[in-house]
Amino acid sequence: MSLEHLYVDSNGDTAEFPRFYCQQEEKLAKLQHVLSGMKRGSKRYERQKHKIAKLHEKIAAQRRDFLDKLSYNLAYHYDVICIEDLNMHAMAQSLHLGKSVMDVGWGMFTRMLEYKCKRFGHTLVKVDQWYASSKTCCHCGAKKDDLALSDRLYVCPVCGNIIDRDWQAAINIKEEGLRLYHQEQAA
Ligand SMILES: [Zn+2]
Repeated sequence: MSLEHLYVDSNGDTAEFPRFYCQQEEKLAKLQHVLSGMKRGSKRYERQKHKIAKLHEKIAAQRRDFLDKLSYNLAYHYDVICIEDLNMHAMAQSLHLGKSVMDVGWGMFTRMLEYKCKRFGHTLVKVDQWYASSKTCCHCGAKKDDLALSDRLYVCPVCGNIIDRDWQAAINIKEEGLRLYHQEQAA
């Protein structure tokens, strides 16, 4: 999971919500702004509220549809998918990220991945959320404990490796996930 994109994978590729989705979100914000200037309980207020509820539903349906297709594609094409097992509620609270992170539907996305992988006989490996995925150099294994969330770039003090933090995290999650997978297979 990435704060800037929906996710970054171990190839360095990102997944984004489509543009229409962002436009709808802007429209929703505008409608809500208009509502805040209306007299509570008036006919116009109720009409506006209804309009907002409708748009909310539409956005939720579009999000579900988008995540459904994306997870289908991933589950279909890959035998093993490794993701970080995130506790979104705890994360949003501790980072004061509020609603936006919850809103991207990460929880919904991972649940979809899970049952679709099962359907195709593929494996979803969840890597422990406390595994130091973004703090470990994917090149030499050195650990950098003082990496701040605002540091978007990882610069390794030991080997000089410079890489996008989310990309590095994805590479480490894949390595750790495959290690767990092979361990399970051997058992
Ligand atoms: Zn290094």
